[in-house]
Amino acid sequence: MSNVPNIILNNGVRMPQLGFGVWQVPDEEAAATVGHALASGYRSIDTAAIYQNEKGTGKAIAESGLPREELFVTTKVWNNDQGRDATLRAFDASLERLGLDYVDLYLIHWPAPKQDRYVETWKALEEIHADGRAKAIGVSNFKPTHLRRLMEETEVVPAVNQIELHPNFPQAEARAFHAEHGIATEAWSPLGQGKDLLDDPVIAEIARKHGRTPAQVVLRWHLQTGNVVIPKSATPSRIEENIDVFSFVLDEDDMTGMSTLDNGTRLGPDPDEMG
Ligand code: NAD
Repeated sequence: MSNVPNIILNNGVRMPQLGFGVWQVPDEEAAATVGHALASGYRSIDTAAIYQNEKGTGKAIAESGLPREELFVTTKVWNNDQGRDATLRAFDASLERLGLDYVDLYLIHWPAPKQDRYVETWKALEEIHADGRAKAIGVSNFKPTHLRRLMEETEVVPAVNQIELHPNFPQAEARAFHAEHGIATEAWSPLGQGKDLLDDPVIAEIARKHGRTPAQVVLRWHLQTGNVVIPKSATPSRIEENIDVFSFVLDEDDMTGMSTLDNGTRLGPDPDEMG
């Protein structure tokens, strides 16, 4: 049984607050890697058409024997497939590769504002949502200006915005905007891609105090900040470690210490420049 709490999205759909990200997991390894995550208690999987591992992910889901309604599957439409018709086709192709007849969450991967098609693309997601083929729809890498435009020109408020977010880049302004509009904040690269962040002495000290690892401290910080979090690992022991974060709590001093790590550093592209 999974002990991950759910959050309730703005349309009433429940989403596990911690899931498993599969960016850079090769398709031929995805069945085993995602299979290990499911066996370890993860029930939410975050993939995307561009990750090219929807097939392997779908295989793991089928082989797990878990009831479909216990799983929460997210995938995303890639920049080249924006626009109404192309998005509807891309969605069908994703479902086919996953071997599913619905996803729990479908996201626009990047706003790609230079293409200026995200409003039209969102209307396709609204159709998919109305058909029940995506239980919830959302966006990724949208800045408040892009969200504001969607809310002015379309009907459905995104349930989720999946953005780069970690202690070095905590995105206070975006989080406040999301909270104001009932949009859940989902953190990508929550561990800072396992680079310098996990060697930070402030985190090391908090980890020592709790007898936990730096990755576990960072994931606790996300959960206590209110983020949905989707750490990735291909290493079985780390997959288990990253979900073993529900039996300790960071105190106020720890959270204050974590807040000193904000240095405004993005690891990924600026959404205004992408696509
Ligand atoms: P992450 O922050 O989850 O870091 C993953 C890396 O950290 C691993 O490859 C490994 O090197 C290291 N790591 C993981 N667990 C560890 C542990 N317990 N101890 C030490 N090191 C550990 O980075 P990510 O994969 O970039 O992000 C997570 C997920 O977010 C992705 O898999 C993907 O699903 C999603 N994502 C979305 C977007 C987007 O544009 N929407 C962009 C990037 C990532």
